[in-house]
This record gives sequence, C-alpha cells and structure tokens, in this order.
Amino acid sequence: MTISRRQFLQSSSLAAAAITSSGLWSRGAWGVEPPAANLLSEFSYGDVLMASDLHESQLMTTHAVLMALSEDSLLKPLRQMSGMPAPGEDLGGWYDYDPDYDYRKHFDRGFAPACTFGQWVSALARAYAINGDEETRQKVLRLNRLYAQTISADFYIKNRFPAYTYDKLLLGLLDSHTYVKDPQALAILEQTTNTALPHLPGHAVEHGVPWRMDHNDDPSWTWDESYTVSENLLLASQRGAGRRYYDLGLQYLDDTTWFDPLSRNEDVLNGRHAYSHVNSLCSAMMAYMVAGSEKHLRAARNAFAMLQAQSYATGGWGPDETLRAPGSSDVYASLTNTHHSFETPCGSYAHFKLTRYLLRVTRDARYGDSMERVMYNTILGAKPLQENGETFYYADYNLDAKRVYKEARWPCCSGTLPQVATDYRINMYFRGPQAVYVNLYVPSTLRWTRNGAALSLTQEGDYPYENHVSFTVTTSKPTELTLHFRIPAWAEGASVFVNGARQKGLAVPGQFAAIRREWKTGDRVELDLPLKMRLETIDTQHTDTVALLRGPLVLMAVKPQQGAPAPKVTREQLLAAKRVSERQWLVSSASGAVTMLPFTFLGTLPYTTYFKVV
Ligand SMILES: [Zn+2]
Repeated sequence: MTISRRQFLQSSSLAAAAITSSGLWSRGAWGVEPPAANLLSEFSYGDVLMASDLHESQLMTTHAVLMALSEDSLLKPLRQMSGMPAPGEDLGGWYDYDPDYDYRKHFDRGFAPACTFGQWVSALARAYAINGDEETRQKVLRLNRLYAQTISADFYIKNRFPAYTYDKLLLGLLDSHTYVKDPQALAILEQTTNTALPHLPGHAVEHGVPWRMDHNDDPSWTWDESYTVSENLLLASQRGAGRRYYDLGLQYLDDTTWFDPLSRNEDVLNGRHAYSHVNSLCSAMMAYMVAGSEKHLRAARNAFAMLQAQSYATGGWGPDETLRAPGSSDVYASLTNTHHSFETPCGSYAHFKLTRYLLRVTRDARYGDSMERVMYNTILGAKPLQENGETFYYADYNLDAKRVYKEARWPCCSGTLPQVATDYRINMYFRGPQAVYVNLYVPSTLRWTRNGAALSLTQEGDYPYENHVSFTVTTSKPTELTLHFRIPAWAEGASVFVNGARQKGLAVPGQFAAIRREWKTGDRVELDLPLKMRLETIDTQHTDTVALLRGPLVLMAVKPQQGAPAPKVTREQLLAAKRVSERQWLVSSASGAVTMLPFTFLGTLPYTTYFKVV
C-alpha cells in the first residue's frame, strides 16, 4: 500500500479535529468532564538521563537486538499470511507463520506469528525519543512502510490473536507518530484499523470463550485478548488518531463480567489469565483518564488491592499465569508445584503502566512502592534478550529455583522487555502544575523547563543498597515549586534534609514528603531511608513461610546445588543477616552459613526466595 497525499491530508485534518474537539467528546458516555486537568503528567523520554548500569544495560542490549533484526525476517510472517513473496530467514519460535500449527504438538514454533512486531516498533520509537539516533528513526520509518505493504484481511483471518496483534500494531504506529513524527503513521494506522475491525469480535470476549465459528474445535483460537485493547484505542484518540478510536475504546471495555463486579469490590480474579487481565486494568484506568468514568477507576483500584493480596514478596503475581481466589493457598502451593511463578517482562510491563496511571490519578505513594518492588526484584534481574530470540519469561519462586530462558524463542515477553527498558524513565518522575514528584530512586538527572526557567534535578547514591539518596538542583533562575519525594511504607524512621537541615515531621512512611520553596542552583535535598531487615509471610495461613527483605529488596538464599534441601533457619537468624560485601549477606544457621543475594545478582546460582522457618 502507498499512502496518497490526499489520504495523508485527510488523516492530518482528522488529527487536528481530534485536538480541538477532545473536550466535547469526553462528555459522551458518562456525561462528565474527564479529570485530565488534575492528573500528574509524565515527563518525556528524553527528559531523563539515566546513570544506572542495570537499567541502561537492559536498554542497550534490547535496543541492539532490535536494531540488528533482519527486516525481511521481521516482515516474513506478515508477508506470508498476506500471500506476498516473503524472502529471508524465519526468525523462529512464536514469531513464525506455520499454517499447520497445532498447539498440542509443538507449542514453540508458529504460536503467535508477528505478535511482537508492533511492540518492537513501539520500543524503537521510544528509544529514538531517548537517543535521537537517526539510524533508529530510519529503521522505524522503513519498518512502517514495509509493514504497510502487507496489510491484508488474510493476516487477521489466519491469526489466532487478531485483537492482540492489532493492539500491538496500533501502539507501534502511535508511538511512531508521537516520538518519531512519522508523517504516515496515522494513515497506516487507519488502514490497519479498517482491515482488522471486520475480523475482531466487536466487543470484549473473555479468554476461553469461543467466538470464531470456523475454529470451534481448537481451544487455541479462544485465547485472543480483545479485553485488553481499549487502553491503546483510547490512547490513540488522545494522540490525534480520531474520534473513532474513542468510541472503539469504550466499545471494547470488558464490563459485564470484569469491571462491573470489580467496581463493586467483588473479587472475580480467580482463574483468569494473569498478565492479560492485569493489563486490561490499564484500559479501566484509561477509561477514567480519558473519559472520566469513576466506575472504571474504582474497578482498577479495587483489583489492584486484590492483586497485592495475592502477590509474592517480590511484587510478582500469577503462578502458572493464573490469578487466584482470595484467601486461597494457591500461591503458597506454587512454591513447590511450579517454576512458572511470574511472567516477568509482560507482567512488569502491565504492572508499571497500571501503577503509573494509578499514581498519576491518586498521588498515592503505595503505587510507587509497588513499582519499586517489581523493578528491583523481578524485571531488572531478567536475563538479557538474545539475538536468537532466547527470552527470559518466568521468574521462579519455587523453593528450588533457578534463572533460565524460556524454551520457546521470541515469545510475548520478547515484545514487552524492550518496552519496559525504555519506560524506566517515565516511571521515575511526574509533574503537576507547580510540582515535581520523585517516584523512583535511581541515579539519574531530570531536566525540564518551567515559567521560562531551565531546571535540573540530579539524584545520586547507591540505593537500594545504602540508605542515602541525595538530590542537587540547578536552575537558570530562582524558581518556586514543590518537590515531592516518595517515602516508602517500610521506611520507618526516614528523614529529609534540605541544605543539610533536617525537616522535622516531613518524612511519613507511605506518603510523599513535600518541600515547597524557591529553589536555587546548588540546593540539596537528602533522604535517609533506613533499610531495616524484615520478614514477609507468603500468606496469612502459612506464617512460617517467609521471605527476607531489606528495604525494597528481597534477599534470596543461594543453594549449594539444585535439589539441595532448603536451609534450616529461624526468624531471628534471618533478621540477623550480616552484610559481607556491597551486594551480599550471610545468614548463620544450624545447617551452616547461607549466602543471600538480590535477584539481580544471582547469576546462574540455584536459589530460594522463601524459607520455612523452624
Ligand atoms: Zn509474556
């Protein structure tokens, strides 16, 4: 397909209409003004300079893998399914197209053809917003044009995951429009939407419910995720794609069996596919942020609380990719009956978006606490994405665990990991009308302008290994504003200092500490966040099964070898863990000394996250 100048002009006038009439639309469904004016905003990707090796190496590695992918290989399943010549090697794994695919025979090759294409375009576009690299920009432009040639109904007809794949393609094009300023992105999106819509169910269809009558005998054709697409449709309407996306976004909200009961605080999580349902809560948040629906905000807040009640100490959730009944022993049982504890890249991607939206709406520090936990204990410890498609998928919280790649290459998690790696920047800081919120403590510099002043805020320290985080302000002219710093709920005895003076009563665990003043270059803020050891139980019925935490970090016990019995320790012995180096602790026990490491430094060592204390 080539986009004519006429089509392009049409799409840009649509975009202009979207901006001018956005206030009007939002009166639609619920008859209320959207709360957008009260939301904290995200900074741009390019506003944050990172100085953390762990975060930056994940971004560099994933970006290098994406940049090196052959474009013919990326296009291959799209071309094959559309009946076009498809030169080049197969990428392999989930990404390939296999017309004879049968999930009962071989789960690996051909499960979800081209499912990650849109996510990779999205991650490249976001990376361009960070690095401004011309090669990255050119790659996005080329991929979008090559992709546009393949748009066909057959792609959706032959696809087990038409809504899932459409959702990712949509976001890739939207990010190309927003961050790369691809002038054709919205027109290609229109073409994609026109082609996909007749092959989507028209409303949210739950996992496992048959809706494609030509594939009634094969359950794998009921695993699409149409209940997650509203988020990006509503986002598209906000970013200028047109009113149609707003209407579609509302049309696909999964109300009857999911958001309605959740909004009444009924726990209906049990048995649902974990990642996709947590991801769908982002649609509920978007329904609030874009259209002002209080019901959907209630649904998301309630569901998040239910999710926390069944989360591991790491912040991860959903053993065997399944959400659980309230008060069940399933999460406890997962410590011995599975190694598939938390779908880490997809799960953390959904978790970060959800908590980011919740934080922007509520300014409640607990959502930042949760992000921090998931970041340090799960995704930052993901094994690096490999050029051959080897991908870290499940974090393992079995009592006999190790860090491994998934057998299947290029799974869903190879699509979300590159997006997570770009997004640390937009999770760390937020802005209000006269305020900046510091949410995550990661060495970095934020640069922004306000009322004609150019400001920067640089944070330093070795948190979460050391208590101390320090911030230095520079500004082109003295500027009055409020800086807010998250004081984690576990940080009893925390203190805040401004230019060396302790601010009494300011640091309340579980809240943001607000400092309003006229800031000048050289002003310093210091935080002291006491990293006390503590134990968390797996659930309320198994209080002798505990994890050891120090601040936001879970310390995991290294086992001498796979299959070795769990170390016999007492609560007192765990709490008395001695630091023996910057990243390592020792617990003395009757069965000998036990080395404790955070997830990010476990390497290939066998480990356990939980102990049965004696
Ligand atoms: Zn995944």
